[in-house]
Amino acid sequence: MRHLISMEQLERRDIERILDRARSFAEVSEREIKKVPALRGRRVINLFYEASTRTRSSFELAAKTLSAEVINFASSGSSVEKGESLKDTVQTLSAYRPDLIVVRTPNVGAADLVARWSTAAVVNAGDGKHEHPTQALLDVYTLRERLRSLDGLSIWVVGDVMHSRVARSNIMAFSKMGARVTVCGPPTLIPRGVEALGCAVEHTLDRLADADVVYALRMQHERMTGSFVPSLREYAACYQLNGQRLSPRQVLMHPGPVNRGVELSADVIESPQALIGQQVAAGVVVRMAVLYELLAGRDVGTPRTSSPTPAPQLA
Ligand code: ASP
Repeated sequence: MRHLISMEQLERRDIERILDRARSFAEVSEREIKKVPALRGRRVINLFYEASTRTRSSFELAAKTLSAEVINFASSGSSVEKGESLKDTVQTLSAYRPDLIVVRTPNVGAADLVARWSTAAVVNAGDGKHEHPTQALLDVYTLRERLRSLDGLSIWVVGDVMHSRVARSNIMAFSKMGARVTVCGPPTLIPRGVEALGCAVEHTLDRLADADVVYALRMQHERMTGSFVPSLREYAACYQLNGQRLSPRQVLMHPGPVNRGVELSADVIESPQALIGQQVAAGVVVRMAVLYELLAGRDVGTPRTSSPTPAPQLA
């Protein structure tokens, strides 16, 4: 694998290989000295044209834990504000000979373009409403840690599916891992033809009891060009996930950032059924595994379907 742009490019066995390796990295985070030399001498550029808390910090931690050199580039405060294009910026930064570029932009397809313009490996950390493959990987990792396997699970993805890159990547990832995926939201927030990704569609929470896992999405105002719901209050009245609507047996997930009181009520965010904190923690080890896969792991390990891949040589 040269780049990670879309969940489309990964088979189940690829997902399992990456996540087994992530698991082998989990032990590093428990050490007093959280650093291994696996990517010593490699250069990673984090190129972020959109706001990010979790994704950017976890890619940085992942690269540093593997001893890579990291440059963090945010469009604000850079020459992008003076009108420099993405292509010119990538070509400029390529003069530093990066081995890998992590890129987030508001534009669909931008990560793919960066992969064409640069000789570095490229990881898509979110391209507009298109895809966010490392989010999907860390969500599968989190579910495997909690429930062992996704085979046969019913997973409901609830909310603004239309503008969510997480939804697209996660529907593909969850179904490749054997889950049955249902998306749920008002018709204005469910893209036409979404079933082609391998999911069912519901417009009410009436059958939510069927779900083993409920994955809530934020209303992505930054990508909305019009008004998609009458008001947030009305949206919350019909779709908010709260203590009345969720049963304690159901696992609750959210990619963050959460809009408290809109898609989730405060009580369920803090409840033991919520895996939101575990998702954030998984971000580091899963992104370590992705960096390792692209930069060092090409010849390491053979694809497997179940038993864990042996831990890579860490020290
Ligand atoms: N953090 C996720 C993303 O970047 C989800 C969100 O913003 O709601 O797509």
